[in-house]
Amino acid sequence: MGLTKGELGDYFLSLGEKEYRATQIIKWVHQKGVSDISKMTDLSLELRERLVKECEVRVPEVIYQADSMDGTRKWVISVGEGDLIEMVLIPEGKRATLCVSSQVGCAIDCSFCATGKQGFSRNLSLDEIIGQLWIAENSFDKSKDIYKRNISNVVMMGMGEPLHNFEPVVKAMGLMLDSNAYGLSKRRVTLSTSGLVPQIKELSKHSDVSLTISLHAPNDELRNELVPVNKKYPIKELLKSVRFYVDKCNDSRVTTFEYILIDRVNDSLKLARELADLLLDFPCKINLIPFNPFSESSYKRPSNNRVKRFQEFLQSKGYVVTIRSTRGDDIMAACGQLVGKVNDKTRRKERNKKKELIQVKSI
Ligand code: SF4
Repeated sequence: MGLTKGELGDYFLSLGEKEYRATQIIKWVHQKGVSDISKMTDLSLELRERLVKECEVRVPEVIYQADSMDGTRKWVISVGEGDLIEMVLIPEGKRATLCVSSQVGCAIDCSFCATGKQGFSRNLSLDEIIGQLWIAENSFDKSKDIYKRNISNVVMMGMGEPLHNFEPVVKAMGLMLDSNAYGLSKRRVTLSTSGLVPQIKELSKHSDVSLTISLHAPNDELRNELVPVNKKYPIKELLKSVRFYVDKCNDSRVTTFEYILIDRVNDSLKLARELADLLLDFPCKINLIPFNPFSESSYKRPSNNRVKRFQEFLQSKGYVVTIRSTRGDDIMAACGQLVGKVNDKTRRKERNKKKELIQVKSI
């Protein structure tokens, strides 16, 4: 699971085998969902016996699965040493979107995000990232049609900042797009980033998947508070890098800007106007996400009226604006609610607790 087609090809060459064996293995593992090497019948018996001795197809271990009333499914996956990650499947008509994690925790610490509050443990490896798609794809009955695709869309939007884990994420997205593996189109694989400017530019050399930017504020002062990485990469720089990426894609690409609406923090009409001015002439779509509460946050979700008002203002300025419906909040699987279990190496959790204590004492 941890090897790309090129790396598998090198492995087979080192065995004195033909390089195309890599494609056969990729098809068995990722396209057909077969993890038992002895069942890979287009390999000679001798090669299968050798591979069984030398290799294994190791899928990450699912330790818990929860189904929401609305059909959303969440998996909790163990990635060793007590670290747990979460991934979520959101069915919607004919679409089934899998929200995949890229890190155990996250170092960015956006103020509205439960993952950020957990601190950060480590990056996930290629097998741990693509293994999530493998698990979801094969959690449905494929006995009638092994080529049937159950997952139609993947969003790199679970735990972690994907561009902080560049190489494994790029390799995993390569497998997602590979017609011998998951065969998803580049418009159905989306990478969501808080805005790491150099990595966005670098990504354009390796991939042309859809890009989503977690914007959440139309000016640097407010964005510095909500998305701290903005202090390093301010909005102007970020938008420049997104333009660079889109121009490289060269296919009339539309970028999605995510905007979490937090009651009385970033949901005023004044800010809607600023946002409209900021994105003027940018080929984009705006996705509004009413804040999903969690215990460690004092932010509140705005009323439906305030959400609608924000949306209608932007629409009146000609923007395509969607409101993300809250899915899976009864199993804590909604946007911004994923926590897993993080052996926090940043000690952020500890520091946050101390801060809370000081605040309570001063009250
Ligand atoms: S919103 Fe994304 S980048 Fe920000 S802390 Fe959460 S997981 Fe990290």
